[in-house]
Amino acid sequence: MTTKDSDRIKRAIEVATKAHEGQLRKTGEPYIIHPLAVKKILEEWGMDEDTIIAGILHDTVEDTDLTLDDIKKEFGESVAFLVDGVTKLSTARNGMRDIDTYLPATKDNFLRLMIALGDDIRVLIIKLADRLHNLRTLSALPPDKQKKIAKETLEVFAPLADRLNMGLLRVEMADLSFKYVNPKRFDELEKLIKKHNKSAEKSLARTEEEIKKALRKEKIKYKLSGRVKSVYSLHKKLAKHHQNMGEIYDLMALRIIVEDVTTCYLVLGIIHSLYTPMAGRIKDYIAKPKLNGYQSLHTTVITKDKHIVEFQIRTREMHEYAERGLAASFYYNEQKLTENYKKGKIEHLPTNLLWINELQMTAARLREGKKVDLKKLKLNLFADKIFVYTPKGDIIDLPAGALPLDFAYKLHSEIGDHVVGVKINGKMSNLNKKLEHGDVVEILTSKNQTPKQSWFGKIITPHARQRLRRALRLSDKQDIISNKSKRKSHKT
Ligand code: MN
Repeated sequence: MTTKDSDRIKRAIEVATKAHEGQLRKTGEPYIIHPLAVKKILEEWGMDEDTIIAGILHDTVEDTDLTLDDIKKEFGESVAFLVDGVTKLSTARNGMRDIDTYLPATKDNFLRLMIALGDDIRVLIIKLADRLHNLRTLSALPPDKQKKIAKETLEVFAPLADRLNMGLLRVEMADLSFKYVNPKRFDELEKLIKKHNKSAEKSLARTEEEIKKALRKEKIKYKLSGRVKSVYSLHKKLAKHHQNMGEIYDLMALRIIVEDVTTCYLVLGIIHSLYTPMAGRIKDYIAKPKLNGYQSLHTTVITKDKHIVEFQIRTREMHEYAERGLAASFYYNEQKLTENYKKGKIEHLPTNLLWINELQMTAARLREGKKVDLKKLKLNLFADKIFVYTPKGDIIDLPAGALPLDFAYKLHSEIGDHVVGVKINGKMSNLNKKLEHGDVVEILTSKNQTPKQSWFGKIITPHARQRLRRALRLSDKQDIISNKSKRKSHKT
């Protein structure tokens, strides 16, 4: 408890401390350490008071005698709603206790649930703070649980943080988790980064001096800092480039933060006048922000001593948003956003976060049997994933590029095995048609249909491939049996 805590916050700490009395964490510490750590994280993110209070109380309804009604009476509807959301999220996956039964089969359910809880995005933010602290203290758990939680974080929470443009959180979550998922690789890559940075140290310092001099000459106010690539993002990038280090150009980056957008472009020009830019490596995310709202100018140049350095140029506000994302928006718009943030009042969310409400509203309207213009949706929860709908409005997530048979096998192998056709958005289509975000996909089946060898060319997911292989093996056996009986019948 600090002196700057409001009376409501102090009271919440009292209530939570009393409720968790006698409970211990796996680390052996009193349980209250955890909600207090979550409180601190939420404060660092600049969240509003209701969210902080809900963070303090987030485990009480699930794990103690405190009820939602108690919370509502003492702290109001908004706090109760948030605590309820976090509780639902964790009871649906049975908390950390039964995580064994949770991964990976029900990952989709979890995603669906998250989307359903998008009613108030602050629920997700509390959940992210909760997960971050659990990750930071993961060493107290047995190794198999460590791996499972770490894996889940890499698959669900880190991409979610990325989608909310919470860059600092994404990096911390990903690197903490990756260390548990693949410790050997983590060490290897960490050493590689260190070694590389060491060898480029002098050159980088020289480049920094050159840049500073040029910026001073132009009387530009700036802040310059180095950014080290995270281990996990290097791992992912290497996988994409067939482990070829020579193709990683952003191992070292210098970040220049300036006052306004015009100056960003001015600085880009200055950099290009000093160094040779690499072709095709200039990215204007200011004019064309990334899907999560990230804005910055990127350019990769070859320095005078032939080192490759990436520059990232952005305004202070863009920088804040890149690091803290959604949380930064709450901070900037605190009053406006928290007072108006009620169900349905989505116009107060920053425009780059409307995807959450959009996704949710679409599902709701489909469930009610209403027509929606899906072509207008630009949903992209995870960069490499698409979300499509069943005619009933269930959301199915698939990798980008998935085809109707992938969808069918994802629903059920009984459905997959008997596909005769597909309707996409109400129109007859074909099995070679790539599914897109927001498509409503209806699979047509027939009892007489049998799986075909040629279908291997019409699927991309390992799951569907495996199902199809199994189905073909089974029907082969049946063929052999029926051939044998035919031969027999010929003889006799
Ligand atoms: Mn918790």
